[in-house]
Amino acid sequence: MPIETRQFACLADNYGYLIRDRETGAVAAIDTPDVGAINNQLDAAGWRLTHILNTHHHWDHAGGNLALKDKWGCKIIGPKAEAAQIPGLDVAVGDGDMVMFGASKATVYDTPGHTSGHIIFHFAEDAAAFVGDTIFAMGCGRLFEGTAEQMWASLSKIAALPPQTKLYCAHEYTQANAAFALSVDPTNPQLQSRAREVDRLRAEGTPTIPTDVAIELQTNPFLRAAAPGLQAALGMSGASAVEVFAETRRRKDNF
Ligand code: ZN
Ligand code: FE
Repeated sequence: MPIETRQFACLADNYGYLIRDRETGAVAAIDTPDVGAINNQLDAAGWRLTHILNTHHHWDHAGGNLALKDKWGCKIIGPKAEAAQIPGLDVAVGDGDMVMFGASKATVYDTPGHTSGHIIFHFAEDAAAFVGDTIFAMGCGRLFEGTAEQMWASLSKIAALPPQTKLYCAHEYTQANAAFALSVDPTNPQLQSRAREVDRLRAEGTPTIPTDVAIELQTNPFLRAAAPGLQAALGMSGASAVEVFAETRRRKDNF
């Protein structure tokens, strides 16, 4: 396992992640939601920040870039299509690019929808993907800048990763997402049992992230636009996956 991951809750409902390449000791922050929390985690681990990997330009993802760069002199890698909006960006990357992080490597995928230039980082050897605000446990990001067609294509890229791939999402939205998912996919037995499990975990204050591709394929309504049970519950039997996805997203916006 070339990378070691340190996960921490910060701000209202964000997760921050620090990853360390075991071979070289390189350390990256995945996004920069909270400078104080990131520095505390670095201190606690005895790690020095060498990289920032940004998924998109929102303040709770790139807002800490300059303060961290100032302190650590780290290299900032982020989305080419949002280059002008990523503070301190050094290396702009896009779909299919390979990012070297120490001796570890990640493949970049463009996942527009939440923002127009959102990217994710897939560390194939570690079966891990840092997905920002594209997918959440049983949910997906709001369409602030992109279209339903774009987001469906972006989510389809994540759905096509190996099923055991861990998905490191940027927010703990799981319990609210489960309530919505049950409203559109009420007959899904895996979803019913997952929702109960999530209630139990959250009652203890346990994170429900990371999730993985396999469980999202079974329970995330935004990946299940072609599932007959979900289509029937929406009154959209036989509709195209994109249409069903778009309607599901609209309903979630008003849930
Ligand atoms: Zn965002
Ligand atoms: Fe966010």
